[in-house]
Amino acid sequence: MTIDPAPIRPALALVAHDQKKDALVAFAVSHQAKLGDFDLFATGTTGSRILAAVPTLPVTRLKSGPLGGDQQIGALIAEGRIKGLIFFVDPLTPMPHDVDVKALMRLAALYDIPMALNQATANLLIAHPDAFLQTS
Ligand code: PGA
Repeated sequence: MTIDPAPIRPALALVAHDQKKDALVAFAVSHQAKLGDFDLFATGTTGSRILAAVPTLPVTRLKSGPLGGDQQIGALIAEGRIKGLIFFVDPLTPMPHDVDVKALMRLAALYDIPMALNQATANLLIAHPDAFLQTS
């Protein structure tokens, strides 16, 4: 008798720039039940903040965004592992890794995954989590 491995669950990425981290943590607390249905990948500092607030969430922490974390998430989108991106961006602060941020958004657009860049859109998506499962 063989035992089938557990199926890989769909995954979402969570990222927030520094001025938006409090808002993303509040979002994760509010929606922890729905987010818990997904495997979650987060950039380093964002992931630490989320895990501190909701230790039960299945968050895999990648590198910090400026150190390559955004590119790691982009690679996981290209591989088809990540099905949705929730990225609370700060539109008022210049970023040293702006090119990485643009590259991440480009891959999310290219692979046509749902991408929320602000809280209003994230609220819409999390109200309909099936939306994350309709991409190939
Ligand atoms: P951080 O990275 O979660 O490590 O702060 C986010 C970013 O700035 O892209």
